[in-house]
Amino acid sequence: MSYTSAREYLSPTRIHADRPNRTLEIEWADGHVTRYDFTTLRWLCPCAYCRGEAGMPGWLDSAPTLTDAQTTLTDLQLVGSYAVAPTWADGHHTGYYTFARLREECPCPEDTARRTADPHAGHAHQGRLG
Ligand SMILES: [Zn+2]
Ligand SMILES: [Zn+2]
Repeated sequence: MSYTSAREYLSPTRIHADRPNRTLEIEWADGHVTRYDFTTLRWLCPCAYCRGEAGMPGWLDSAPTLTDAQTTLTDLQLVGSYAVAPTWADGHHTGYYTFARLREECPCPEDTARRTADPHAGHAHQGRLG
């Protein structure tokens, strides 16, 4: 992968929080579209409180039952050109979600398959057409 395509890969061209449908949609420069539902997004919160730090478990590690407020996105701030910081209805706003992470954790079938790809699964996907 060249540096140019790596940069495109991690450059959102459009970020849209759809509050009625509770989804965050990100379109990338390479044409890929990533769509998170708010609950999934909250579970990915990378802040020290949620994730823990210095070897200490975070709040999300205790597998809490998230309330509606905790999974309702009320605002989204851009952080420089590398991340977004959502504000949740419970007031939580300390998670900086880098574009790299948002792309890496993309929940689409294609990326889910990529993350769970097992070279020993014995399932060949390169069947030829025609
Ligand atoms: Zn957090
Ligand atoms: Zn994807």
